Amino acid sequence: MAILVTGGAGYIGSHTVVELLEAGLEVVVIDNLCNGSREAVRRVERITGKPVRFVQCDIRDRQGLDALFREHAIEAVIHFAGLKAVGESVGKPLEYYENNVYGTLVLCQAMEAVGVRRMVFSSSATVYGAEAPVPYVETTTRGTTSNPYGTSKAMVETLLEDLVVADKRWSVALLRYFNPIGAHPSGLIGEDPQGIPNNLMPFIAQVAVGRRDELTIFGSDYPTTDGTCERDYLHVVDLAVGHLKALKAVEAPGVSIYNLGTGQGVSVLEMVGSFTRVTGVEVPYRFGDRRPGDLPAFWADASKAAQELGWSAEKSLDEMMADTWRWQSANPQGYAE
Ligand code: NAD
Ligand code: UDP
Repeated sequence: MAILVTGGAGYIGSHTVVELLEAGLEVVVIDNLCNGSREAVRRVERITGKPVRFVQCDIRDRQGLDALFREHAIEAVIHFAGLKAVGESVGKPLEYYENNVYGTLVLCQAMEAVGVRRMVFSSSATVYGAEAPVPYVETTTRGTTSNPYGTSKAMVETLLEDLVVADKRWSVALLRYFNPIGAHPSGLIGEDPQGIPNNLMPFIAQVAVGRRDELTIFGSDYPTTDGTCERDYLHVVDLAVGHLKALKAVEAPGVSIYNLGTGQGVSVLEMVGSFTRVTGVEVPYRFGDRRPGDLPAFWADASKAAQELGWSAEKSLDEMMADTWRWQSANPQGYAE
C-alpha cells in the first residue's frame, strides 16, 4: 500500500516525500507541474537513493485519477496540490476556486469511488482571519478570510468536515501551516518560486544571491517590538515530518485540526538580521508601504500537535537560514539550471 502525494513536485510536497521514503513508506506522486518541477522529484530520488513513482496528472482530471487509483494500491492521500499566491488569487478567483476547491472535490470523489477515505490536507493559518486572538488556537472558529486563496482553504476545510459528518468512515487531518521556510540540509531541494517571490524568505535569498537588488520591507510602523510584522517561521523539514505524524491521526475516523508552527513570532527585521549573521551575506533593504491585507503579528499555539501527534518544530531559525542559503547559493536559478 502506498501514500498518494498530490503536489509532490512542489516545495513542501518534495520535502515530505523525502521523509516518507526515509520512513520506509511507499509513495506515488502526482503533480501537473504548473508550479512544481520534475527535477525536484529526481533530486528527491538522489537524496533518498530510492525511485519515486511520478505521474503527471491534474487533480481536476477524474479519468486520470481513476486510472491512477486502479493502478496503485493507495491507503491515504496527502493533498498539497493547489495554487498558493495570495495576491494573484485576488485577480484570478475562478482559477483559485477551480484548482483548490473543485480540484479537491474531484479528488475526494475519486477517492470515495475506490474506498480510500484518509486525507491529510494542507491548510493555512490564514483561515483564522484577522480577528482571532494570538496565539492562534485550533478551538477558535474560522474567521473572515480576506482573499480568494484564504477563502479556498476555508471552503476545503468545510467540504472535508461535511464529508466526515456524512460518512463516518472518512478520516481527515487539517494541517494549518504557519510560515514554512528553509530547505533540505542536502541543498538539493528547496523553494523555487516562479517570477518575483511573494514571500519574505525566498525574496531575501534572491537578493543575497544577486538576482534582486534590494528587499522592500512592507511597513515599519506596526504595533510590534521593532515596527515590522511578526510571523511564525518553521523549517520545511519539520513541517514535512508533521505530515508523517498526521498519517497516524488519519488511521482513526473523524476530523482533526492541527497548527504546525513553532509558537514564536519573529519580525521581518529580525529575519534579515539573522540571515546576515548566519551567512555573512548582507541583504540591502528599504522600508516601503504596508502590504494590503497583512496582519501585524501572529503565531501558533502548537501545543495540540505536541500532545496528540508527538510533533514539535525542532529546527532553529539559524538552521532555517543556513539551509535556505545552502540551497539558494548552490542553485542560484533554482531548478532551472
Ligand atoms: P507549491 O506551489 O510549491 O506546490 C504545489 C504543487 O501543486 C506544485 O508542484 C504544483 O505544480 C501542483 N499543482 C497545483 N495545482 C495542481 C493541480 N490542479 N493538479 C495537480 N497538481 C497541481 O506550494 P507549496 O508551498 O509546496 O504548498 C503546498 C500546499 O501547502 C499548497 O496547498 C499551499 O496552499 C499550502 N500552504 C503553503 C504555505 C506556504 O507558505 N508555502 C502555507 C500554508 C499552506
Ligand atoms: N514581507 C516583506 N517584504 C517582502 C515579502 C514579505 O516585508 O518582499 C513581509 C510581509 O509583509 C510579512 C512577512 O514578510 O509581514 C511575511 O510575508 P510572507 O508573504 O512570507 O508570509 P505571509 O504574509 O503569508 O505570512
